[in-house]
Amino acid sequence: MILNIIKKTSAAFLLMALATPAMGQDLIARQAPIDKKMRAVDSIAIQRLFQQEQIQQQFEDLEDPAAELYPDWEDSGINLYGNVQLPKDYQIDLRGFCMPTSNRIVTSNYGYRKRFRRQHKGIDINAYPGDTIRAAFDGKVRVVREVADAGGYGNLIVVRHANGLETYYAHLSKHLVTENELVKAGEVIGLGGSTGRSTGPHLHFEVRYMGKPFDAERIFDFPNGQLRDTSFTLKKHYFNIYSHFGQSDKESSQTTERVVHIIRSGDTLGAIARKYHTTVTRLCSLNGISANKMLRLGQRIVVR
Ligand SMILES: [Zn+2]
Repeated sequence: MILNIIKKTSAAFLLMALATPAMGQDLIARQAPIDKKMRAVDSIAIQRLFQQEQIQQQFEDLEDPAAELYPDWEDSGINLYGNVQLPKDYQIDLRGFCMPTSNRIVTSNYGYRKRFRRQHKGIDINAYPGDTIRAAFDGKVRVVREVADAGGYGNLIVVRHANGLETYYAHLSKHLVTENELVKAGEVIGLGGSTGRSTGPHLHFEVRYMGKPFDAERIFDFPNGQLRDTSFTLKKHYFNIYSHFGQSDKESSQTTERVVHIIRSGDTLGAIARKYHTTVTRLCSLNGISANKMLRLGQRIVVR
């Protein structure tokens, strides 16, 4: 009899055990009720159609990438966007990226180079002659320039991407794409070199939005070979040459290196304001002077 009870109890437990997963599933099903209007259909054909639409859309996006931002598809010059109106901030989708080189050593940052009194609008990454250089995102090659036509850039490639960015690849030893060619992220577009104004083999890589450069390290983590995030909010103050990755937003928006003008014969506040693209009012407030203040030869005037 005891054996019978054990058998019955075991059977009850077994039933409960079998019932539990079914109850669990039931619970899940009740939590997410099936829409009765949706019929269960074979989704393979739909999926394929959807993929085709996606591919078609991607292809159209690449045919005229970021057409809503840029006035034209134009390959007659490297940077043609003069005084474009930049939004206060702009959200950029970075998904589907590839690091432009397999090398991860940044040899020179974005910013102002005091020693050469020159703006460095890109970053330099170590690259050996002949190293493969890859497109950072899907895009369309807008510019391919030989050394003679690209000044300090040497052999240069500019690719426009559907996300609104343009990427520049400079000092190449060889181009492997032609203008108007569609490229996928990771596609080899050129070989590393040292053409143009370069002291040794490296890749000069720029990221621009509407022709305006900003620090590529804001989006690429070069030492780790990855994106910092899949989405990026580009802010207007990032276009300041003194604004770079690693600063707080406040530092970045306020950063300007102090520029001083030394008064020479014939200088006026108006002329100084014009020269440095500022205003007399701003000069006065920066220097604590009034607009009709007499200037002395050799006097130092803070310009910004
Ligand atoms: Zn450089």
